[in-house]
Amino acid sequence: MKVKILNEAGYAQAMLGLSLSYNQPIENMPAVACKLIPKGGSHIKFLESIAVWLDITAARYWWQQFDTYRVGVTKQSGSTMHTLMKRELDFDDFETMTAHVLTAINWHIRNSDPLLVKAILPEGFLQRRIVCTNYGTLRRVLIQRHHHKLHEWTTFRQAILAQVEHPEFFGRERMLREKLAALIHDMWSGWIDHVASKSTFNFDGSMTIPAGFVVRRERQMRGSYDDLSEEEKDSDRREADKVLALLKEHFAASGRMEEGK
Ligand SMILES: Cc1cc2nc3c(=O)[nH]c(=O)nc-3n(C[C@H](O)[C@H](O)[C@H](O)COP(=O)(O)OP(=O)(O)OC[C@H]3O[C@@H](n4cnc5c(N)ncnc54)[C@H](O)[C@@H]3O)c2cc1C
Repeated sequence: MKVKILNEAGYAQAMLGLSLSYNQPIENMPAVACKLIPKGGSHIKFLESIAVWLDITAARYWWQQFDTYRVGVTKQSGSTMHTLMKRELDFDDFETMTAHVLTAINWHIRNSDPLLVKAILPEGFLQRRIVCTNYGTLRRVLIQRHHHKLHEWTTFRQAILAQVEHPEFFGRERMLREKLAALIHDMWSGWIDHVASKSTFNFDGSMTIPAGFVVRRERQMRGSYDDLSEEEKDSDRREADKVLALLKEHFAASGRMEEGK
């Protein structure tokens, strides 16, 4: 599944509209908007003014569930009627596929029988659609499909939270989770990079880590943080500072964490 936000528009207009309700300067509105988010319902009508265009390629079984959202969403899809018979299909055209079903579909394509191809086309067939919706609808979808059995909903949620320009309107905790996950990923890839920089690469694609490096890391791994030298602790402290900076930024907005505490 692929989910890409193509464009967003209307944030400034949504804030202007909100300022009319509150008769306050527009500069105050982002903070007011964040306070309104937990209230939900008609308090967050302003989210409907922020339009979002998405480019989604997903299995038709996922589209069936997405199609239950009728309000504030419109789509333009690839037409199976116009495109299905143009070429033989491949494993890449499906979320999952077996060889014998693919053979049967392609046999009907070669025999130019579009109705039979459509009749036996599995729900795993990937279809691309351009979706036009808004923050209000997206927020409802994300809440309703949290912890859903279909893994595509997790992919969808993560893609939306990672790409929207204003994740604060989707819940501050979720936004913080995404930021922490990205930071942990950076730490992990930084560490792998460091190991690779100390190692040599062999012709068969494997990597040899020097014995001295392995011994040092073994000692660090087996011992606790308290057993490390001050220099080694500093390295971990620098990583901790990155987490702390994210947490400070997060809690500063809600006034729950003060400088120095
Ligand atoms: C886990 C899960 C399982 C589900 N299983 C099923 C199932 O087995 N069968 C099934 O049929 N559906 C199922 N649904 C779909 C569900 O019933 C909704 O149709 C879908 O989630 C769309 O939600 P919605 O109604 O909020 O959104 P929309 O249809 O986009 O509507 C948005 C909002 O507009 C308002 N609205 C929409 N239509 C009307 C109306 N006619 N009158 C008054 N107000 C309206 C409501 O406030 C609604 O919340 C499931 C949903 C989930 C999350």
